[in-house]
Amino acid sequence: MPELKILGGKPQYERWVPVSQPTMPDYGTFTERLKKLWDSRMITVGDYTAELEKRVAAFLGVKHVVAVNSNTAGQLLVLRTMGLKGEVILPSFSFCVTAHVLRWTGLTPVFVDVDPKTCTIDPAKVEEAVTPRTSAIIGVHLWGNPCRADVLQDIARRRKLRFITDAAQAIGARLGGRPVGGYGDAEIFSCSPTKLLTCGEGGFVATNDSEIDANVRRGRIYGMKPDYDCEFNGLNARMSEFNAAFGLGSLEDLDKNMRNRKERFAQYRQLLSKLPGISFPEATPGAEPNGIYFTVYVDADAFGLTRDELYEALLAEHVLVKKYFDPPLHRMTMYQGEAKRDLAVTERMCKRVLTFPLYSHSTPEMVEQIVALVARVQKDAARVRAALAAAA
Ligand SMILES: *Cc1c(COP(=O)(O)O)cnc(C)c1O
Repeated sequence: MPELKILGGKPQYERWVPVSQPTMPDYGTFTERLKKLWDSRMITVGDYTAELEKRVAAFLGVKHVVAVNSNTAGQLLVLRTMGLKGEVILPSFSFCVTAHVLRWTGLTPVFVDVDPKTCTIDPAKVEEAVTPRTSAIIGVHLWGNPCRADVLQDIARRRKLRFITDAAQAIGARLGGRPVGGYGDAEIFSCSPTKLLTCGEGGFVATNDSEIDANVRRGRIYGMKPDYDCEFNGLNARMSEFNAAFGLGSLEDLDKNMRNRKERFAQYRQLLSKLPGISFPEATPGAEPNGIYFTVYVDADAFGLTRDELYEALLAEHVLVKKYFDPPLHRMTMYQGEAKRDLAVTERMCKRVLTFPLYSHSTPEMVEQIVALVARVQKDAARVRAALAAAA
């Protein structure tokens, strides 16, 4: 067996293995759609965008879906057009965008802690953080596993707050027997290249509220009315027809892609569970995650290496594992000044998480090879640790 790179050998992979990779839709169908749009001269918000909106709404089981050019723009427009003020409660354990949209709209983030089993926002902590200044709650469906949107929706109703989710990673994930998308006031999806359904770039605002639907539709064209008057400052958040044409193909493959992903996810889990010190996030009660990210918890004592040591060893082999999400938001330079609640679980869990490469087109061999590599690193833990220390 060849020596690990960190112990003087060659990397297992010559070319980097990225953590995620888009699964391309059928090329022939895409070019046929492209030809039609070429001839129509409709290259932004046209028939393909309308068709995609209709089909995503049907898939999610919601009344309205507005296609936009990113999840970021979708969240911004929802927050702006709801006219919120004051504080918004969100988990610190998320991607930067969940907090950035609050900075852009002049809202104050209040970071709360997560449930250690799922790393999704803890509803009890949300309840404790509500003040007279609170106007909304943002839940995050993390790694494709839904947060307790059912419970959070009830808290929001009771406390007269708005509730939205950053559903960027969650297309196809289910909670309470139905796809997420219809919880709270709005749920906002991403279809950037790393997501399960991709348009190249893009996002969707899903809502059952016709006022939010109308406002986001107006907001994506600068906030402009047909007579050019504006009542609020919108964005150019239109989805181009090129992206929508790509997205239609990706949507047609979604069930198949999700099925394969879940199989590879289960395989990873089954194989890695044989190693000491590796455990897994749980699915939220009543939830079916979509399998988008395969994340493990590393216990340093049992595994023999810390999460960071394992990360370094795998990077040396050209396996681009990721620390989703470390640093958490409240540790980021720009959010360090924000008031913090007790974030002990976030602090502990962010040091243990590691996300492995997984695509909708991953093969069983890919998963086997990566797991075998992790097993080799684990077996040689003491030497790996010494080599890393010597190199530091
Ligand atoms: C990908 C992602 C985003 C950003 O989506 P864009 O479409 O790139 O704006 C936001 N939040 C989370 C949790 C994400 O994973």
